[in-house]
This record gives sequence, C-alpha cells and structure tokens, in this order.
Amino acid sequence: MPLTVECAKRSSILPLLMDQVFKKFTRESSGSLTKRERRLLFVELNALLNKSLLERALRLLDEWIFVVYYSQNRLNSIVELSSKRKKLDVVRVIPDINYCKCGFFQRSVLQLTGENSDRCDPEITCEHVLAVRLHHVLNRQCSKQVLSSDDFMAYLCDVFEDQAET
Ligand SMILES: [Zn+2]
Repeated sequence: MPLTVECAKRSSILPLLMDQVFKKFTRESSGSLTKRERRLLFVELNALLNKSLLERALRLLDEWIFVVYYSQNRLNSIVELSSKRKKLDVVRVIPDINYCKCGFFQRSVLQLTGENSDRCDPEITCEHVLAVRLHHVLNRQCSKQVLSSDDFMAYLCDVFEDQAET
C-alpha cells in the first residue's frame, strides 16, 4: 500500500535529518554557538519538528533541572531531568539514543497504544529526548556525577523500564 510506504519513509528519514542537524551544530571543544548559529539551528529544527514539541522541549530547558550521571569509566552517561515544581516528575534518557519511556514517546513516536495505532504521522521524538539534545548543543551547564556500577545499572534499567506493567 502506498500509504504504508509513505509512513515508513517519513518515520525513517526525519530522525536521521534531526541527527544531522544536531551533529552539524555540536561543538566538541565546549565552544558555544554564535548567535547566528543558534538562529540557524532553530530554523532547521523548526522545519523538521512539530512546533509544539520544540516549545515543550525549550520549556523543559528553562523549568527543569538537568543532571548528567556517568558510569565509573565515564564512557557512558544518563541524563536526568527533574521538574523544579513537582519533585516526583523525573525522566531519565540516554544521550544520542532516541528512546524515552514517557507516555508521549510510547503513544506518538512508537505508536504502541491502540488509540493512535492507525495514524500515519508518528512524531520523531519526545520533548525529553529533544531537550537533552538541545541542552548539549547549547552547551548549558549542569551538575555532573559519577555513579557506582550498581547505581548506574539501576538508572539504566530505569530508562527502559516498561511503565505499562505498573
Ligand atoms: Zn519523553
């Protein structure tokens, strides 16, 4: 069916394009983007992403606390986002991995729940994954902590824990 082919194309190309945009604007040597580069970054993201998704991610950057947890060898990391207002709102994602256990990701990106399963326009990602990528590319400061192997493993399990079972 042509419709199915279109779905597959859209859902596989857009995440790649988003990756390319972030790669283009990521400065490894901790340099910040110039004003012009920042503007170009948002022009390109606007062209790819749903506007409300981008707005929600920007709100997270302003209103949530970001902490980076490293494994002992510092080769792996997990970013924790927690709401300044609601202490129990905590989301953990792995940088550069497009996965989040939040309801929006499960429903609108993976389309795992029944209500949207016949929709043909999955979202590329959720606001948490997007906010973590923006946080990195905009070189925002946050606290960093190295975890013991056991703690890191527990956080890693939490990233992929299936909330549907609870
Ligand atoms: Zn999410």
